[in-house]
Amino acid sequence: MRSAPTIEVCWMPRGIQQDLEELARDWEPLEVGGVLAGYWNGQAAIVTDFVGPGNDAQHHRYTFVPDDEYHVDEIARLYRESNGATTYLGDWHTHPSGTARLSPLDKRTLRRIANAPEARCPDPLMVLFAGSGHRWGTQVFTLGATRSLLPRSIVPVELRIF
Ligand SMILES: [Zn+2]
Repeated sequence: MRSAPTIEVCWMPRGIQQDLEELARDWEPLEVGGVLAGYWNGQAAIVTDFVGPGNDAQHHRYTFVPDDEYHVDEIARLYRESNGATTYLGDWHTHPSGTARLSPLDKRTLRRIANAPEARCPDPLMVLFAGSGHRWGTQVFTLGATRSLLPRSIVPVELRIF
């Protein structure tokens, strides 16, 4: 299990960023999302795979409810096929024509993932695509370091596309 200090950099292949933007475009004006997989290296997260929304996801104008069962299965498959190298890193979703800030629900979701033992991901990423058409901005967030009994803050993560 990871602990503080928190994640500082997220490395994402250009192809994955483009695939996610394409999904964002396909679904707008409704939200879409899914999960990200890869591995941790010190304070860096390296994305190697993504999973789309799943057939049972619910797409709305201002919310997205993921197909959790599909995501659990897909993460298990990626873990198995990589002999345990590829694990769950966090979630991604879109804000069509919206802001590049996390909503109160997004923040609750991030904290819920961090605190869920079954997610095995105490420092989850939340990757947000805000925009429309061919203009989407990508922002990455995680939870700040644990400090005594205070709730962990939401902090930005530097995104590096490669
Ligand atoms: Zn959101």
